[in-house]
Amino acid sequence: MQVDVVTIFPDYLAPLELSLAGKAREKGLIDVRVHDLRQWAHDRHRTVDDTPYGGGAGMVMKPEPWGEAFDALLADGPATVVFTTPSGQPFTQTVARDLATRERLVFACGRYEGIDQRVVDEVATRAEVREISLGDYVLNGGEVAALAITEAVVRLVPGFMGNAASLEEESHEDGLLEYPVYTKPAAWRDRAVPEVLLSGDHGAIAAWRRDQAVRRTAERRPDLVPASVLLDDVEIRPVV
Ligand code: SAM
Repeated sequence: MQVDVVTIFPDYLAPLELSLAGKAREKGLIDVRVHDLRQWAHDRHRTVDDTPYGGGAGMVMKPEPWGEAFDALLADGPATVVFTTPSGQPFTQTVARDLATRERLVFACGRYEGIDQRVVDEVATRAEVREISLGDYVLNGGEVAALAITEAVVRLVPGFMGNAASLEEESHEDGLLEYPVYTKPAAWRDRAVPEVLLSGDHGAIAAWRRDQAVRRTAERRPDLVPASVLLDDVEIRPVV
């Protein structure tokens, strides 16, 4: 998978060099290219923003540098273009799985009050466009969203995880939050690991984990758990 990121703060994407994503780059599973939007701004100050039509606070990202950026990047080959925006589709594991099937993603990281809408509309005439939100809050820029989306997507690319089974058991993969996990020692500060996990009975362990996952999801995220598996004795707290 090729990942291009267009930003006015290329250094923000340095964490992509680290950890698992860095290993995936070394293995050749992903090829990440970070581009400074200002290379496509041609005035003396390499200006990428201007005042909003209609008035109001803040600045808006100008269409010309973005237009040139997409001319250059889409000339390299087809891509799914991800505009990070708080008014986009909420990012979920389902969206991550979908994006993981793409050969190439191009992230457009907004700043200021966002990117001139005509850029999104124009790019949509020549590429698949996704407008994606990291959550219902406002960040200063799209870089953190691009990082988070890339990390969630790349770990789903076949060959990325050493043990693919660990992906299947994770939160959100089966619509539930993950059950609590424990490691050695069996007793720590007067707290024991649940006995069933030491029993060696794989059927009982699987049943206990499923029950814990359902309880945890019902308690913490009743919006996720299907009504058919809601338990009578689980206290449902409102999501705040
Ligand atoms: N004025 C915009 C609004 O109210 O929707 C917010 C602009 S925000 C300060 C600047 C940029 O940060 C956005 O263009 C977007 O790229 C990014 N951003 C902010 N919050 C985000 C979120 N929740 N998800 C994804 N990107 C976000």
